Amino acid sequence: RGINRFSTSVAIEEPITPPVQIDHTQLLINGQFVDAASGKTFPTLDPRTGEVIAHVSEGDTEDVNRAVSAARKAFDEGPWPKMTPYERSRILFRFADLLEKHNDEVAALETWDNGKPYEQAANVEIPMVTRLFRYYAGWADKIHGLTVPADGPYHVQTLHEPIGVAGQIVPWNFPLLMYAWKVGPALACGNTIVLKTAEQTPLSAMYVSKLFLEAGLPPGVLNLISGFGPTAGAAICSHMDVDKLAFTGSTNTGKIVLELASKSNLKPVTLELGGKSPIIVCEDADIDLAVENAHSALFFNQGQCCCAGSRTFVHERVYDEFVEKAKARALKRVVGDPFKKGVEQGPQIDGVQFKKILSYIRSGIESGATLESGGDSVGSKGYYIQPTVFSNVQDDMLIAKDEIFGPVQSILKFQTLDEVIRRANASRYGLAAGVFTKNINTANTLTRALKAGTIWINCYIVFDAAIPFGGYKMSGHGREKGIYSLSNYLQVKAVVTPLENPAWL
Ligand code: NAD
Repeated sequence: RGINRFSTSVAIEEPITPPVQIDHTQLLINGQFVDAASGKTFPTLDPRTGEVIAHVSEGDTEDVNRAVSAARKAFDEGPWPKMTPYERSRILFRFADLLEKHNDEVAALETWDNGKPYEQAANVEIPMVTRLFRYYAGWADKIHGLTVPADGPYHVQTLHEPIGVAGQIVPWNFPLLMYAWKVGPALACGNTIVLKTAEQTPLSAMYVSKLFLEAGLPPGVLNLISGFGPTAGAAICSHMDVDKLAFTGSTNTGKIVLELASKSNLKPVTLELGGKSPIIVCEDADIDLAVENAHSALFFNQGQCCCAGSRTFVHERVYDEFVEKAKARALKRVVGDPFKKGVEQGPQIDGVQFKKILSYIRSGIESGATLESGGDSVGSKGYYIQPTVFSNVQDDMLIAKDEIFGPVQSILKFQTLDEVIRRANASRYGLAAGVFTKNINTANTLTRALKAGTIWINCYIVFDAAIPFGGYKMSGHGREKGIYSLSNYLQVKAVVTPLENPAWL
């Protein structure tokens, strides 16, 4: 049912050989790379072909138990929380230097395992990971409590202490960036970690965890488990000796994670979940700027972004112009082997997502939206999908309500600001929003009215290390990145001492 308008597709049929070797496929427990206790492995696949890249260890409950014991010991007895903050900071800086040195190999692993354009991984994402570790390395020796006033003759201070063993679970769409958002602040605060990679994308985290050992991270401080969600993931969430959980993934899994945490030891949980983020293009917007930003807001990373701008509301007076230009931009998008220079869009992560996205495209067509471009898969193997644009999308269509997590842009029409605020907020999600206008009053009104954790004005997807990120409503709890993430990994202890007391000598 596609309309056969192909975007520019290059080099899909003959996959380019990735410029990297696979050297690390095992779990990291207590400073050693080891097989799973069961001896089991599972394949990780190349999204360009569906073929096996490597078999990696399949961690399960027994491995999680071993990893948690190692992390517990490293926290309770080991040097990590007892090191000076400056020593911890230096290890994090050394790790960032090593990562920078190996940037291109790590980027190649990320592209191979995930399908994202190599240029994006090598020039944007992995440098962002390095930057993030430097940001948190800088925080390690600046974390401290306060002296607080009391209503009596007391000296009151707060100590900001690490929580203990942090369990961390990450998704496949930004494997190493999500690892960095979690590992960076947890280590800076002095916690130890058991982290589970997503089953689709274990390779880059395995590689960089070796760099952590080289940087001098003591054994047991960072333990890495590759494995599946309902087994290894659930074992982390339920573990009585895991003191804190941080999860990024789908809203449905977030509910399971929260339930497992509450049924075990009530460990605190931060959740970064899904989204259906609105972009509002006002009548007075710079249309070319809005078109380009709305395009990358949706199509970046093959549309596999939790904060993808997946509901583009455009004012009726500029609607036709916007749709024409958005369609022209999508038709120019270069789809192809992500290792090829100039490619903007690689394959989707796997066959499950590929089929799900194509079925949403069918649902868009069947529910009466206008297919402006794309609408079909590309090539005969792998999981490539044409950049797809729908106009005349209505709020009650499935493509306007569900998180598609693919290259499908939905353009809706609005008339008034009050109306678009109501419609933009009528979602169970509240992760991000974009606003395009030249009027500061309009920008201020929308900034305050939109219920979302990030509002981008005349830009989109700006992701510095210091900018907090997280969701309202069912997009999650808590914030990652920036100073805000530190509080996820710290306990506050109040210490009260009488100024004068018979106990003092
Ligand atoms: P997912 O929820 O299926 O998987 C995420 C992680 O959870 C994986 O590591 C998986 O193994 C694990 N998991 C699955 N079942 C589990 C269980 N029962 N117990 C414990 N762990 C379990 O999501 P996904 O398909 O991998 O990722 C895509 C989703 O993640 C999208 O919905 C997207 O919006 C969301 N996401 C959100 C953010 C954010 O920052 N808000 C960032 C990236 C992705």
